[in-house]
Amino acid sequence: MTGKQKKSLIRILIAAALMVALCFLPEDLLHLSFVPEGSPLQQLPRMLLYLVPYLIVGYDILLKAFHGILSRQVFDENFLMAFATIGALAIGLMKTGDFAEAPAVMLFYQIGEWFQSYAVGKSRRSISSLMDIRPDFARMESENGPEETDPEEVPVGAVILVRPGEKVPIDGIVLEGTSSLNTSALTGESVPRDVKPGEEIISGCINMTGLLRIRTTREFGESTVSKILELVENASSLKSRSENFISRFARVYTPAVVIAALALALLPPAVRSLFLGLAPEWGDWIYRALTFLVISCPCALVISIPLTFFAGIGGAGKAGILVKGSVYLEELARTGMVVFDKTGTLTRGRFDVTAVHHSPLAEEELLEYAALAESSSSHPIAVSIRKACTRPLDLSRVGKVEELGGNGVLVQIDGKDVAAGNGRLMDHLGIPYHECHEAGTIVHMAMDGHYAGHIVISDQEKPESKEAMAALKRAGIRQTVMLTGDREAVARSVAERLEIDQVYSDLLPADKVSRVEELLQAKSPGEALAFVGDGINDAPVLTRADLGIAMGAMGSDAAIEAADVVLMDDNPLKIAKAIRISRKCMRIVRQNIVFALAVKGICLVLGALGVANMGLAIFADVGVMVLAVLNAIRALFTEKL
Ligand code: ADP
Ligand code: MG
Repeated sequence: MTGKQKKSLIRILIAAALMVALCFLPEDLLHLSFVPEGSPLQQLPRMLLYLVPYLIVGYDILLKAFHGILSRQVFDENFLMAFATIGALAIGLMKTGDFAEAPAVMLFYQIGEWFQSYAVGKSRRSISSLMDIRPDFARMESENGPEETDPEEVPVGAVILVRPGEKVPIDGIVLEGTSSLNTSALTGESVPRDVKPGEEIISGCINMTGLLRIRTTREFGESTVSKILELVENASSLKSRSENFISRFARVYTPAVVIAALALALLPPAVRSLFLGLAPEWGDWIYRALTFLVISCPCALVISIPLTFFAGIGGAGKAGILVKGSVYLEELARTGMVVFDKTGTLTRGRFDVTAVHHSPLAEEELLEYAALAESSSSHPIAVSIRKACTRPLDLSRVGKVEELGGNGVLVQIDGKDVAAGNGRLMDHLGIPYHECHEAGTIVHMAMDGHYAGHIVISDQEKPESKEAMAALKRAGIRQTVMLTGDREAVARSVAERLEIDQVYSDLLPADKVSRVEELLQAKSPGEALAFVGDGINDAPVLTRADLGIAMGAMGSDAAIEAADVVLMDDNPLKIAKAIRISRKCMRIVRQNIVFALAVKGICLVLGALGVANMGLAIFADVGVMVLAVLNAIRALFTEKL
């Protein structure tokens, strides 16, 4: 509980105690002998007594209402509460002699407010447990030994030390030491990950067992932690359609209710006295109008809908799924078609060299040329070929480099024109090449216009990919599609094993965009198309799809930026989970809208008929709010989904 919540709880308790005490006040105790019997003034001392709990519990509402009037934003809930309770006091003084209503109404209202702030705090805390990944310092090696520095001041290429128990502050490569990493804050996975020298390490993990020396590969601002924090901080600013619905609704609703209340206060008494010859009973009708106003306040809706999305984003975050805004939770829930990229998304994107064929060069030498050619590419193929090459690379031999997305690379090495890429690249250069019949992705090589053999590399499917497809089908996804720049043979075999409905192969990056556009045209308007990729050659598609889902750990920065949802641990199974989380969230939103509007409608009718009094109305409202908020909080719990 925060200090503010404590203070407001104390106010509520004191006011409630005073109210109870006032119930035992003898009727004639405060009788003023000098005021004529039956005059409203006779009620004044009692009213002053009730004003004490009223002001204790409601002074801030009155102040806010007053400020609202000054700044011309009149019709908010504070105004409604202040107006209605002051009205109730006035009616008590003039007519009924009952003053308990105004403080009781304020009391209920504040209980509701307190409850809401507690709930918001709770889901905010669950989001900020993600925020726990922010490092306080980086221990940088310098001439005078290790020094604690602000992570922002550590340059790329510096060497940092991370002791067991500390957070990894900046992305880098392990130089020395082995350790287990706790990645649960990032991925929601509790199984630790082991690292050893030469491996990449991302910031935000907690180093658990050994001392690590790390060479930084990024600045703090570009590191994984900063990226995630930025995403989370901006997540709640993108409003969903349901939230916009509420604010549009409020724009029409509030004035409509005020007009209805005015009509209720003025019309019936006027009709009674002018046409029916009855007593107008102004007090009675004004009281009904005030009750009507109090009941009309749509707090439960206004509060619970953003809260549900907030909790849903928090719950997804705990599971290692970063959703960049409530709008995307809504899109996730509508998803009917999921389109996948192959390399790095369904497969690990870590290729092993399995064969070298038809080369006039020795295997070692061809691999060295290939590694040099791929030295500046970040494509998973390039990374793997560099890894497979055992010779040390002399980068000064590499001249001009040109990368053709979805084809390969053209490079100058030792003054020779070297090409490394797929059959399409060879066709493009007019170089005849040997088709390879071995399974796997083929990198053909050519030097100075002559074919120099090919390297067969094979990728492995991620162990979760097959189960991920089945889980999507179970979650009601109508169709799964795979798009790839790889050969048809490879694409078919992957699609068959994973049971993907539809596959398109041999695509250039631009073809992927037009395929997705075709699919977007063909789908029914009620459903959304999600594209899942790692951002290497598919960042434009991530943006074009209704919903872009990116692999966070493996994916490129461009992908994480272009995507709407980021899977922190690259596990395709999380897509179905994200969909289930979003559906639960939307279900809660719908339940709350229906429930709140139904109770509100009933109370409004009862209030207008004069059956419900103000206290009952507020009680119903607070009840709805508490239930709606409790319901919203359910969106936080995503473990079992
Ligand atoms: P995917 O759609 O499976 O993710 P990409 O569009 O990234 O594949 O690449 C498609 C194909 O282009 C690859 O299968 C490969 O044959 C070729 N290619 C792309 N980049 C390179 C590279 N740097 N080196 C060699 N071949 C490449
Ligand atoms: Mg790819």
